[in-house]
Amino acid sequence: MSGTLYIVSAPSGAGKTSLVSKLIEQDSHIIVSISTTTREKRQGEHDGVNYHFSSIEEFKQKIEHGDFLEYAEVFGNYYGTSKSAVESELKAGKDVILEIDWQGAQQVRKLMPEATSIFILPPSLEELNRRLNNRGTDSEEIIAGRMNEAVSEMSHYHEYDYIVINYHFEKALEELHSIFKAGRLRQNAQAQTHKNLISGLLGE
Ligand code: 5GP
Repeated sequence: MSGTLYIVSAPSGAGKTSLVSKLIEQDSHIIVSISTTTREKRQGEHDGVNYHFSSIEEFKQKIEHGDFLEYAEVFGNYYGTSKSAVESELKAGKDVILEIDWQGAQQVRKLMPEATSIFILPPSLEELNRRLNNRGTDSEEIIAGRMNEAVSEMSHYHEYDYIVINYHFEKALEELHSIFKAGRLRQNAQAQTHKNLISGLLGE
């Protein structure tokens, strides 16, 4: 039995990380891949929990060793997904979420076209701006830069299979969860999970 790979992208401030954290709390079949990054740790973040924090040298070594399923430079820092961690979780039957940007999503789609991709949008630019200001961990200059980056990230929404709009957290969470639940009902997933039942029903 193997799990499904999900790509979740969103502009910074759309609520992606909060939605994904709540989702994995509610559904033990889903796990989120912990990326490696060269960016500085923010207040409240922990190594090995939010990210594997790494030096640029270490990151480049990993690229050379082919350790990443995908990697990209985002806001001047490197971010990458561990190939071996994702493969072993999928093999164990888990649904694995990659919280990655559009560049990483394009790389993963090429390698694993069966992956399901989801884009989370904020309800408005005003709300996005408010959320980026509320975070309180980045300077104004970084926030202004991220607003520009957000628009450019959102311009890739059409490359994704599903769109969830985060008007209300609970509603967006329910919609997000429904994508995973429906994924498990797909014919190939059901045929694997209920192999014996189906053989019995067909008198095999
Ligand atoms: P942040 O620094 O705010 O945690 O994340 C910044 C951006 O990097 C987000 O758009 C996030 O989706 C993206 N990101 C995080 N991890 C990865 C990764 O492993 N690969 C790629 N391509 N993007 C990532």
